[in-house]
Amino acid sequence: MPTLIFAANWKMNQAPAAATAFVRAFTDQYVRRQDRRVLFFPPAVSMYAVVQGLRDRSDLEVGVQNIHWEDQGAFTGETSGPLAHAAGARHVLVGHSERRHLFGETDEETAKKISSAFRAGLTPTLCVGETLTQREAGETIAVVQRQLRAALAGVAAPILTSAIVAYEPVWAIGTGRTATPADASEVHLAIRAELRAIAGELGAAIPILYGGSVNRSNVQSLLAAPEVQGVLVGGASLDAEQWCAIVGGS
Ligand code: PEP
Repeated sequence: MPTLIFAANWKMNQAPAAATAFVRAFTDQYVRRQDRRVLFFPPAVSMYAVVQGLRDRSDLEVGVQNIHWEDQGAFTGETSGPLAHAAGARHVLVGHSERRHLFGETDEETAKKISSAFRAGLTPTLCVGETLTQREAGETIAVVQRQLRAALAGVAAPILTSAIVAYEPVWAIGTGRTATPADASEVHLAIRAELRAIAGELGAAIPILYGGSVNRSNVQSLLAAPEVQGVLVGGASLDAEQWCAIVGGS
């Protein structure tokens, strides 16, 4: 049975008390399923609350939204992979479009963060995706290939198999516009080919998620598309009832 991944990116929302209440409401409703993994990416200040709230649920996993590539030192305001791991994180988002486009994160930095994540025992979810201008210029596949290669080509294939990739077209994030299942699949197939080129046959095992205005109405059609192994959800993951409907749907 294929395992689907449902990842909630709370971005800069949900203070510790709200995160605790959310997790309680979610765990009251959601019964463990063998065919899916559920990942939470709360803001760093609320991660401990989520880790505590999920301590009896090994089927529900927690991560941070960003790390610095250095393990420790004088980097005011930053969180490192080892610090996040010690606080209970087992996952990290790398190269989210908001990091790339609002904070100027480069391909080179995503590569350093991927290495740092593996060093710290965190599973990185590498986000890739094109802007609207790049899509309209026919550059979508070239952009995601470049982002994948830059971030992953330096990692040994057996290590890479524990990574997750998320295709998130920038024009679909937080905009209410979603890629059609066919559009998503076309890019996921290209990502799969690139992962095989980077990691050989082991590249076939890396899950590829779709992200960009996923909600309870469109999630099933996106999950039914070829090479879509899960979803990364922002806005619609902030409401426990909707998130439960997204994760618990058939
Ligand atoms: C995201 O933050 O990764 C995302 C996909 O956001 P949204 O679902 O709100 O588009």
